[in-house]
Amino acid sequence: MIQIDTICIYDDPDSEGLDTKYLAGFLASQLPGLQIVARADFVTHHLARFGPSERDILEAELSKQLAGASVAELLSDTDELLPPLSGVDLETAYLARPLQAAMRLLIPEAESDLGHLHIIICSDLLADYDPQNGLFGGVAALGNPSIVSTSGLIEVPSRPREYNFRRAQYVMLGAEEYLEDLAHQFADQTAGYGDPRINELLKGYLLMAVVYRATGDGPCAEPTCPLHAARTQAELLQAQTGLESRLCAHHTALLEAISSFSGP
Ligand SMILES: [Zn+2]
Repeated sequence: MIQIDTICIYDDPDSEGLDTKYLAGFLASQLPGLQIVARADFVTHHLARFGPSERDILEAELSKQLAGASVAELLSDTDELLPPLSGVDLETAYLARPLQAAMRLLIPEAESDLGHLHIIICSDLLADYDPQNGLFGGVAALGNPSIVSTSGLIEVPSRPREYNFRRAQYVMLGAEEYLEDLAHQFADQTAGYGDPRINELLKGYLLMAVVYRATGDGPCAEPTCPLHAARTQAELLQAQTGLESRLCAHHTALLEAISSFSGP
């Protein structure tokens, strides 16, 4: 197991309702042995320590790297996009690994040791590529930094079929005024943009980032454990906010061990 001593969690002004101070408090309650720091958005925070000329150079390098990670830049005319990528603005979708590499450039040496975990929350959509499935969307890119996407939470776990069907009908008929009602009717089965539950829905993904960093373990198989990687919106809500939602015995013990771990 790797010993984590500090977790930095970064704000995202584009994610409506996001409260990183609240989430840092949540992490502190789950991991009382660790130092948890809530910071401004990642790029702003890390560029602030440089002077204007260095900042210009870094910003230019960063935009070059981001262009290299951009899904829109990588697509050829023949690429077929699967949902959720077929339904979103690709200008804000990035391949997860090169995006993590670009963000890593900004982490100072003193904070890039194994004891630090940086968790970036962003509204950009994360994508991955494999030759069999092509491009597909993801909620979180685990590692250091870990990136959790708030639009990924809304777009990646699939919505109920009836919701999709009725939504498509309203859009086709130009009856967009009914969309909010529809979202309301399906609130116990789907999350949407501006959803007041956004912070609750993020909690399990933050814990997933911590567990992955400390042990290399992926998500939990238990559907009621917040570390479960939901495939549908109903599963997401069940795991994070459902009446039965609670950490499974394995993850309760593991988080305790991570919190009190000292030594190799
Ligand atoms: Zn679990």
